[in-house]
Order: sequence, then structure tokens, then C-alpha cells
Amino acid sequence: MDTNSFRPEHADGLDPATRALTERRSAVLGGSYRLFYRRPVHLVRGEGQYLFDADGTKYLDMYNNVASLGHCHPAVVEAVTRQMQLLNTHTRYLHEGILDYTDDLLTTFPALPTGEWKAMYMCTGSEANDLALRVAKAWSGGEGFIATTEAYHGTSELTSGVSPALGSGQPIAPTARLVPAPDVYRTGIDPARIGAWFADRVRAAIGDLEARGTKLAAFIADSVFSSDGVLPAPAGYLAEAVDVVRAAGGVFIADEVQPGFARTGEEFWGFARHGIVPDLVTLGKPMGNGIPVSGMVARDEVLAAFSDRIPYFNTFGGNPVSMAAAQAVLTTVRAEGLQAHARAVGSAMRSELDGLKERHDAVGDVRGAGLFTGLELVTDPATREPDRDLALAVLEELRDRGVLTSVAGPHGNVLKLRPPLAFQAADTDWLVGALDASLTALGR
Ligand code: PMP
Repeated sequence: MDTNSFRPEHADGLDPATRALTERRSAVLGGSYRLFYRRPVHLVRGEGQYLFDADGTKYLDMYNNVASLGHCHPAVVEAVTRQMQLLNTHTRYLHEGILDYTDDLLTTFPALPTGEWKAMYMCTGSEANDLALRVAKAWSGGEGFIATTEAYHGTSELTSGVSPALGSGQPIAPTARLVPAPDVYRTGIDPARIGAWFADRVRAAIGDLEARGTKLAAFIADSVFSSDGVLPAPAGYLAEAVDVVRAAGGVFIADEVQPGFARTGEEFWGFARHGIVPDLVTLGKPMGNGIPVSGMVARDEVLAAFSDRIPYFNTFGGNPVSMAAAQAVLTTVRAEGLQAHARAVGSAMRSELDGLKERHDAVGDVRGAGLFTGLELVTDPATREPDRDLALAVLEELRDRGVLTSVAGPHGNVLKLRPPLAFQAADTDWLVGALDASLTALGR
């Protein structure tokens, strides 16, 4: 996760105003915070897919899936303002907002073989995953968790224990096992076999847990494996692993914080691309277009094992203002046809990016679904050796050309291109031109 971070030694080259802000930050904010870029960006305004800094410079936001409809989308601003002027309380009083939203949200979920979906609301993805892990333990009677080797699932004790992306300083829970992500490009495994390959890894992890007397509670995964390097293809590869998990008495938690809410273009949810019906689904980031709202949707029979015994109250979770924001997001995704848009504009963008391979052999792989793309930088396409230094240098070059993004993957060499869904075909020229110029400037 520690990628293109600003470090104190970069301060010398900064203009006085930027330098003063970085110094104020380090004087008063906790040292765990990281700041992007050697020349940090001081943003003051956002509109759609664009951001503006204090000098009025315009940037193309290729990073932000939180402002998913676009920065400051008027439908969300209006819905939040209206509700804030009327009432904002908690879920211990009756209110239609949370019920209307839940009815609407659940229309996007697949039919269950038995029982019903039930929704609960929080403020962050971490809280949603934390609750899902607790529910999984209650239902299964087990303690064991499986996650991927570069996964990120949150900030709490439970979720950070299954978040190896936090680096070697973060202990992995003793009851957790990590499996390599299903990476077709890096493993070179036949795409038709990657599902079976991945299921074998999950089976081995379950065996290892059981050999130490730990029963499986849950396998948790982000179905586009964004922090593992953006691994969307081939759709369907997760299904076999989920069967293995269920056979061992565990549940599958689909962490939709990254792929959810239409981003992948093909489906509204990432899990749907894999033809899976999860046991627990966690929602976050794009859900409120910037308002902190998150959720957990669960099969009622799974949830009951927890909720029949343990109350759950989240002071801000599900409040009328958050629900108004979430409703405006759902309504706008449909009204603006953003799922189909993400699909069309995302695949056109990837064709253009693919074209860069002809001029720059550092571009090893371009992959994605909808408006979620990973571009892998390598020393040589034949060896596929990851080029982390180049990726970090490209981030800085892109920033100088007004394009903001970051990197992902175990080697930190995959450019993560994940703009607001407001991204338009015309923005592709800016992105591809900036990337082309950046690689050329770096002699690659
Ligand atoms: N799950 C995934 C897949 C995430 O990417 C993140 C945030 N990067 C989280 C969970 C945690 O969400 P939050 O930061 O809202 O707690």
C-alpha cells in the first residue's frame, strides 16, 4: 500500500506554500498517514472526472472510485442537502429512507435458493468487513480465514489481520491463511485452468488450518483483486474456490468495496461476473459518492447465527442523510446508464492503451473490466519481470501531466486506472497521451 509516498527529503524542491502545508501535516497528524507524490497535490475543487488544485490547474482523476458518479455530482449534493436540512438521526427510530433504499438495493441482488437477503449499514468498508468476519465466525463456529497475499480489507483488528497489503509490519492473524491471487499473466497459467488452480490453493489453505485444529469460518475476496494487481479475467474463475469453501463449512464474503456499483460494466456487482451467489456481501466506497456510507448484505440464515445473540448498533450507519446519498447514487447509476457506459468507454480505453505496447515494450499487460483497469509495467515483455521503479517514476510523470493515479500488485508495478464513472471517451486521449509522453520521457 505504501506506494508513491512523499517523504521529508522531497520537501526541498517544493514551492513555499506546498512545503508549509506538508510541514503543518507532519506537525499535527499521526505518522501513519501517507501523502501521494514527491510534489504533493493540493486539491481544492472537484467536478465530474476532474480535480482542480489551489493554482487552478486541472487534473484528470484516474484513481477515485469513491466519487464514483463524479466529484460533487449534483444529484448527491442535492439529496444530502435536502435531507440534512430536514432530519439526521440514527436507526433506532422509524424512517422510510433506509427501507426504501434497502428495497431498491436488493433488486440488484440475485435470487437466493433459500431464505432472504438482509441488509445492515455502517460508515466504512472496514466496518462492513469487520462485521462480516464476525458473522462468519458465529455461523460457522470456526475461526479460520482465507484471503489473498496482497489483499486489503480494512483497518480494524480483524480486518487488518487479513490485509497483507499493509506490509510486513502488520501481523497476519494466526488463524488466517494467505493464498496467491489468480493472476493469469504472472503465473502463465492457462486461463481455462486458473479457477481450478486457485481452488487447489484454497483447498490447501483449508487443509493447513484444519491440520492445526482450526475450522474455516470464511474466505474473503475482492472479486477484481484490485490490491493484488487488478485481476478481472477470466470471469467465472472464483466459482470453484467458493464451492471448496462451502464444502469445508465456511462462507464466502464478497468484498464489493472496489468492484461494486456498476464499475466493472459487465454486471452491477463483481461477484456476479463470476456467477457466484455469496453468503455475505460488503459494500463501501462508491456507495455514497463521497458520503461515508457502507453496508453488509447477508443471507438471513447466516446472519441469524450472529444477530439472534448479539445486538449491533452503529451510531452513524444507515442515517437518513447517508441513505439519501446512497439512494441518489443508485438512482443516478440507472438514470445515466453508467453500467453500460463503464463497459463501453472502459473497453475502448483499453484498446487505446494496448496500442501503447507497439511503442513501449515496458507495457507488459493491459487488463480490466469496465472502468477498472490494470496496466502492468515490466522490464521486458518476454521475461515479464515487474518494473516497480518504472511504475513509481511513471506516476510522478503522469502527475506532472495532470493525470492522477496509483499502483497496485505485489510488485507495485501495476498502474491502477479506476476513474469516476463520469470518465468520457475524450478523456482517453489525455490519459494515453500522458502515458505515452511519460514513458518516452523516461526513455522507455
Ligand atoms: N475492502 C477493500 C477491497 C478496500 O479496497 C478497502 C479500502 N481501500 C476496504 C475494504 C476498506 O474500506 P474503508 O477504507 O472504507 O474502511
